Amino acid sequence: MSLLPLHLLGSPVLRQHSTEVKTVDEEITRFVADLFETMQASKGVGLAANQVGVARRVAVVETDDTRLVLINPVILESEGRDSAEEGCLSIPEVYAEVTRPARIKVEATGLDGKRYTWEGDGLAARAVQHEIDHLDGILFLDHLGPIKRKMLLARYKKEHKDENYIKEVGSTAAGST
Ligand code: ZN
Repeated sequence: MSLLPLHLLGSPVLRQHSTEVKTVDEEITRFVADLFETMQASKGVGLAANQVGVARRVAVVETDDTRLVLINPVILESEGRDSAEEGCLSIPEVYAEVTRPARIKVEATGLDGKRYTWEGDGLAARAVQHEIDHLDGILFLDHLGPIKRKMLLARYKKEHKDENYIKEVGSTAAGST
């Protein structure tokens, strides 16, 4: 297993619509293990393939009570509304309140190559939605109002203007996805 470099805001791959995975082979299995390792080293609760520069529909989520491998995930049902603060490993030190459906039912392929469904709410449901957004090139900032988004982006760009948009995994804030 190996740690993968994180792509930060500004990297074009974060805006790419990822392509479906055709078969769960050895390469994908290894990639999923690397995603988990990179996520854990970054103290995140989720990580999508785009965030490590790979535009394929693969993501992982891990909270205290839920561990999901999401290959070609699709949200089948969603209900309710819930607001909570979100962050993103690709946009370090930026946090904002995001409103999303509270409860979701998602279908995805697991490492055994079979489709499964998962239903849940809370942090895991939020993380799953955040990661599926990534696979479609959507960032959590896109869910905010235009003024708030502009403000956070301007501040981020000012603070990170001299940085490369690919970062080796080191220290990042906890709870980001
Ligand atoms: Zn994210």
